[in-house]
Amino acid sequence: NKNEISILGAGLIGSLLSIYLKKRGLDVHVYEKRPDNRKGDYKEEGRSINMALSDRGWNALDKVGLKEKVLTLTIPMYGRQIHNEHGDTTFIPYGKEGQAIYSISRGRFNQLLMNEAEDAGVKVHFDKKIDNVDLRTNELHIESRDGSKEHISSEVILGADGAYSSLRTAMLKQVRFNYKQEYISHGYKELSIPPTKDGQFAMDPNALHIWPRGSFMLIALPNPDKSFTCTLFLPFEGERVSFENIRDEEDVKGVFQTFFDDAFQMMPNLTGEYFNNPTASLINIECYPWMLNKAMLIGDASHAMVPFYGQGMNSGFEDCVILDNLIEKLGSNAWELVFAKFQKIRKPDTDAICKLAMENFEEMKADVADPKFLIRKKIETRLHELYPNDWIPLYTMVTFSSIPYSEAYAIGKLQQSIMDRIMKDPLITQNWDKLDYGDIIDWLDKTKAV
Ligand SMILES: Cc1cc2nc3c(=O)[nH]c(=O)nc-3n(C[C@H](O)[C@H](O)[C@H](O)COP(=O)(O)OP(=O)(O)OC[C@H]3O[C@@H](n4cnc5c(N)ncnc54)[C@H](O)[C@@H]3O)c2cc1C
Repeated sequence: NKNEISILGAGLIGSLLSIYLKKRGLDVHVYEKRPDNRKGDYKEEGRSINMALSDRGWNALDKVGLKEKVLTLTIPMYGRQIHNEHGDTTFIPYGKEGQAIYSISRGRFNQLLMNEAEDAGVKVHFDKKIDNVDLRTNELHIESRDGSKEHISSEVILGADGAYSSLRTAMLKQVRFNYKQEYISHGYKELSIPPTKDGQFAMDPNALHIWPRGSFMLIALPNPDKSFTCTLFLPFEGERVSFENIRDEEDVKGVFQTFFDDAFQMMPNLTGEYFNNPTASLINIECYPWMLNKAMLIGDASHAMVPFYGQGMNSGFEDCVILDNLIEKLGSNAWELVFAKFQKIRKPDTDAICKLAMENFEEMKADVADPKFLIRKKIETRLHELYPNDWIPLYTMVTFSSIPYSEAYAIGKLQQSIMDRIMKDPLITQNWDKLDYGDIIDWLDKTKAV
């Protein structure tokens, strides 16, 4: 009774990974602690229920033939729509014309992936919580919802069980296992903007809406039912506007009327949602090694990041592609070699995207509200138009390319140092389109050479 492959967690990464491995002809079992969310009216609480899907994620879906099916569940967002405190808006495109990130409901996406996995022959076991993993014997200790317990041994174990992974907990007990976790000062809460009375979107559906307010912000992503899912990011405590200081309905209304009044006018269920929905925390996790013998961590279990670059799921999907490429190259009976190579290739990249996600938090909260941010984006867009291969903006490298994250990070830092100097010109607001763009590219080339 030994499984060939056991995947822990039927989240987004576990489900997609199971499809990849099944396509390699392997016997794949997935263990998921929650009930089957395709049955009954199940809503995931406390986690953003829609995600931004971008190129790395699309590539991973395309490779197993799922791109077209997933596309039908998405809405393209071509840029950020920034809302200032007076209700005025500015649109900042994400990339070139036609380039978009795609809003998708986490729940529906996960259901589609689980359906596809089962259709391919993967066995998904719900209500099965992994209590412990015995790493000496590769044995799973499983507890079912009814309290019964069982032990299942497996040739290979893949821990796709998220930021609080049971496989990682077992690895923590090993010597020389490095682990770092950091909760940030901010938490988040889900809210919503329903369709208008005549059944339309209350705002432009083809944008990711942001209300940046310095130390806090609100964002909204569109859903196919013409509603928006909003996420409110606030410090837990300490600041004037914080979760700690919002105690009753009047406080909620006060904060929204003062800082997000245009959104407030579109949120008839605000106070109910505010007090019914949980406040969730945000964590960054880095650990290493990711493997021990024939067990390995993948997705958030190995690199959970804060959500401000919209890359957690996308990077986890890219993990699946890289792992699959190694299996193709080295064979599906050389697991230890495949895992060793995987972690070596992938770790610098996931470290880079974890750092970028943290840095983008500052950009989203504050910088996007600064008129100079718009000028900066315009200069970078112009550079990219004139020299498409020489200057690729960092956001484009991360979101609309497969350039390894670590490379994007390093190039991004060079670009940043150049842009910081350009932006020091006190007349840049008037002169930005008169710059010598060729000179800037020479400057970048020289900086790279150094
Ligand atoms: C607010 C927010 C917004 C986000 N927005 C984006 C975005 O726009 N784009 C993007 O790319 N990423 C985004 N992310 C990140 C993304 O949600 C994660 O990176 C992604 O969900 C990771 O998938 P996963 O399958 O590794 O882990 P999870 O989604 O956490 O899935 C893990 C699964 O394992 C199960 N499990 C856990 N423990 C056990 C156990 N002991 N036994 C059995 N099963 C278990 C869980 O029930 C779950 O089903 C966001 C995250 C947050 C918090």
